[in-house]
Amino acid sequence: RRSKVSGKAESYQMQAFDIAREQFSMETALRRAIENGDMRLTYQPICDLSTGRIVAFESLARWTDEDGRPHSPDTFIPVAEESGLIVPLGRWAIDEAARTLAAWDARAGGDCGVKFAVNLSAIQLQRDAIPQLVEHALATNGLAGARLSLELTESALVTDPDRIAGIMHALKALGTTIAMDDFGTGYSNLAYLQKLPIDVLKIDRSFITGMLADRDKVAIVRAILSLSQALGMMTTAEGIETRELSQTLAALGCTYGQGYVYARPLEAEAAYSFLSASH
Ligand code: C2E
Ligand code: CA
Ligand code: CA
Ligand code: CA
Repeated sequence: RRSKVSGKAESYQMQAFDIAREQFSMETALRRAIENGDMRLTYQPICDLSTGRIVAFESLARWTDEDGRPHSPDTFIPVAEESGLIVPLGRWAIDEAARTLAAWDARAGGDCGVKFAVNLSAIQLQRDAIPQLVEHALATNGLAGARLSLELTESALVTDPDRIAGIMHALKALGTTIAMDDFGTGYSNLAYLQKLPIDVLKIDRSFITGMLADRDKVAIVRAILSLSQALGMMTTAEGIETRELSQTLAALGCTYGQGYVYARPLEAEAAYSFLSASH
């Protein structure tokens, strides 16, 4: 006769097994998608909160598998990180973003007027020669370094902060902008802020969502804004879904905003049309 407790343990074991198997099959499918060129980038505008103008687009990876099922990057990026697939995926994302931006410039007959922001995973920074890849992507596509912004998270600083600092300085030397993504959610101390060449703090969506009804969130956002001002950095608020929120953040002195109120992440063609219609 099985006790309730051991039955539960068994079912936990089964779950762990199922999860491992699912991860493995996702890894196989993801590897194939990267090899076959089935990954896409979508582009979400980032606006200057005081003028409303689009200043940049963040590239966000999308994957629809062979059965037509879309997978969220919140699911497949961790699988890519654990399996090492983040290296080819990350290389592809840098190249694809640079190619697309150069194509937009060509269509605009010159600088199309926006930067592209590219996400770099902490694992990718540990394992790959990112400054060399970025330099190569810029050169191949005839882009100035200032046209790219690279988004890093605090987790990148945990394992080998000196190495990451070196990478950040090398990226700055290429002329790119560096943004600290998901700011406020990491656990590292803030001392790194004065040592590293960070241009922009991206205030995590969790502080922005529901902010107008939550005094604590407002207090945190205000604190991040005054910290960034004191350190001479700019700020981007992510996850802005309402006009009211974008107005409040502009009034508080936040530099840039991103969120569904402006646009969802768009396929490249739709993003270019959106830019053309707004500029
Ligand atoms: P992230 O870098 O923080 O990107 C912002 C996420 O917020 C995106 O989710 C975007 O679609 C979503 N978002 C933007 N505005 C709003 C809004 O107003 N409301 C809500 N509810 N959500 C909004 P997405 O595209 O699902 O990406 C999730 C995460 O996956 C990203 O978070 C990033 O950490 C990672 N990711 C996506 N693409 C890449 C990539 O190419 N490379 C790497 N390393 N990571 C990526
Ligand atoms: Ca980001
Ligand atoms: Ca973010
Ligand atoms: Ca996030």
